[in-house]
Amino acid sequence: MSKNILRSIKGTHDILPEESWRWQQLENHLHQFMARYGYREIRTPVFERTDLFARGVGQETDIVSKEMYTFSDMSETSVTLKPELTAPVIRSFLQHNLGKLSPLTKVYYIDAAFRQERPQAGRYRQFHQYGVEALGTEHPEIDAEIIAIAYYSMVEFGLDDLTIKLNSIGSGECRKNFRDALRNFLQPHLGELSETSRRRFATNPLRILDTKAPHEQEIIADAPTIIDYLTDEDRRHYQELRIILDAMEIPFEEDSSLVRGLDYYTRTTFEIISPALGAQSSVCGGGRYDKLVETLGGKPVPGIGFGAGIERVLMARNAAGEIEPPAIVQVYLAVMDDESRSRGMTYLHHLRSAGIRADGDFLRRSLKAQLREANRLGAEYAIIIGSRELNQNIVQVKSLNDGVQESMAADDFVAKLVKNLA
Ligand code: ATP
Ligand code: MG
Repeated sequence: MSKNILRSIKGTHDILPEESWRWQQLENHLHQFMARYGYREIRTPVFERTDLFARGVGQETDIVSKEMYTFSDMSETSVTLKPELTAPVIRSFLQHNLGKLSPLTKVYYIDAAFRQERPQAGRYRQFHQYGVEALGTEHPEIDAEIIAIAYYSMVEFGLDDLTIKLNSIGSGECRKNFRDALRNFLQPHLGELSETSRRRFATNPLRILDTKAPHEQEIIADAPTIIDYLTDEDRRHYQELRIILDAMEIPFEEDSSLVRGLDYYTRTTFEIISPALGAQSSVCGGGRYDKLVETLGGKPVPGIGFGAGIERVLMARNAAGEIEPPAIVQVYLAVMDDESRSRGMTYLHHLRSAGIRADGDFLRRSLKAQLREANRLGAEYAIIIGSRELNQNIVQVKSLNDGVQESMAADDFVAKLVKNLA
């Protein structure tokens, strides 16, 4: 490749026509799927005030502490390309007072996210997520619905071998006691912890539990688990959720190490794992955040949601088996001579208006080359016209599957093809 050609930024990807049809399939599936569950789409801007993420995602998270694309605009406002979608959705919910319209707000998004991470398989700097947020109830039925959406949206798209990991981290009350117990446990190991973990020991020791460093994971294997600190009400909420999930035939594994270190996360947390993804095995992360709306300046509103990585969902789907791409065109319009070109354009227009995927020759190629192109594009029929067809007001219709050719009246070949292709 020429040295003068500019290349895309590391960790970003073009979605080329060879694969964009897969993205469209997933997006179409999601729009229909979400409608069945009563969720409506919300779209928020690509960038927001940095402060939204500092407050809504949390200073101590990997995202805010080291992964954000942050810059000052001309008015010296610090803005950030959104690294996740929940905080923008809550911001929009509050700004437009959506809670006033209905006591339960159910929305979904399909969107890009930006994080400055080390690019590798399944980890990019611009990636895409779909997800849902339900705001307005703390009852476990909605937790079950959110998990069902995450799980069945993937299963219906053809993903297999998925594992749902589930935990409850209780509410604020039990968090303090757990934090104290965790500090007592970690105190003797402080010297072995990384600098980041030592800092978190002071600011927010729960964050140490989702460390990725193997030697730290070994240490925390014996740490106290939050389940033992749940209040009676937290315990009941968790129990009811598990009963509903069983009844809905949603398989899950309880995992007491699945924690979120931030104070506004409450009770239910879950993650979906696919073995097809190797090291980046997490397709989806979600949970309840009953204190987040307050953190962002609103009156208390309980909420729960999840975010799923679209690239990882597509990778996991690819691993589950080949899918035939749809043929690019159904009908190819070929012309034998220059006099037929303009009539060809008219017929092409009629075919397309009738809902048929149709294409023709724009390079003034030979008939043979045009028919080769028709096959390459996957067409089922070629329409062939020349001056004889023009004079008799007919067209030749050639089936490219069996090579059979017949002439049809120019006035009704489009209607016939619509029927044949249905
Ligand atoms: P990980 O542990 O893989 O870093 P995370 O905890 O940062 O994931 P979330 O913030 O919960 O992930 O995002 C939800 C989902 O978005 C993830 O489960 C994953 O599928 C996807 N995801 C997160 N970061 C990236 C990335 N850099 N590139 C591609 N997909 C990503
Ligand atoms: Mg991450």
